[in-house]
Amino acid sequence: MKAEASTAGANVSQALTKGACPICGILKDFQWTLVETARPQSDLRVCNFHGWALARSRAKISRSTPGESVTNVFLEMLKPPLVGKVNSDECTLCHRVLEEEVTRLRELAQKLQGAMFAQWMKSQGTLCLEHGRKVKKFVPLRLRTLVDEIVERNRVELEQELETFLEQLKHGIHEGGGLLGRAAEFLVGQRGL
Ligand SMILES: [Zn+2]
Ligand SMILES: [Zn+2]
Repeated sequence: MKAEASTAGANVSQALTKGACPICGILKDFQWTLVETARPQSDLRVCNFHGWALARSRAKISRSTPGESVTNVFLEMLKPPLVGKVNSDECTLCHRVLEEEVTRLRELAQKLQGAMFAQWMKSQGTLCLEHGRKVKKFVPLRLRTLVDEIVERNRVELEQELETFLEQLKHGIHEGGGLLGRAAEFLVGQRGL
């Protein structure tokens, strides 16, 4: 499995957007880059999600890198001995995503040690529950409270926005503006991760 790291998307600073977890954003982009640059290999193992992600990537690959399409990836996988679906703990692509997650969590933890970055994250930054929990393993003890504060502010903001949204729904206003998606990301991470 090869992917060009340079095309794997933004670093943590570039991925900072108000209302979205930067680690989730990076991993989602990274995952699609992995799928789109997959090379045929006999020991490729994929979970259900990544099998279908490969199938969906076909059009893009055949436009960008003719001759290295997912057709060849699947042809290689169809050679005996067949493996079929594996769980995510054995999936080649899930493994790569987990490696990238550790790299990016370390990067975020490093940046949190800078006062200006820490202040920005504290007042405006977003972290999902899962990445809040995970990044605490990479920061010095004194910064764990900061991470908790970021996550707690996100939780309270979402709660307030959802309550406002609920009121608006009662009055026939249905414009959530991605609010439900942000709530889902906060609770369970970005879709497909
Ligand atoms: Zn996240
Ligand atoms: Zn997978």
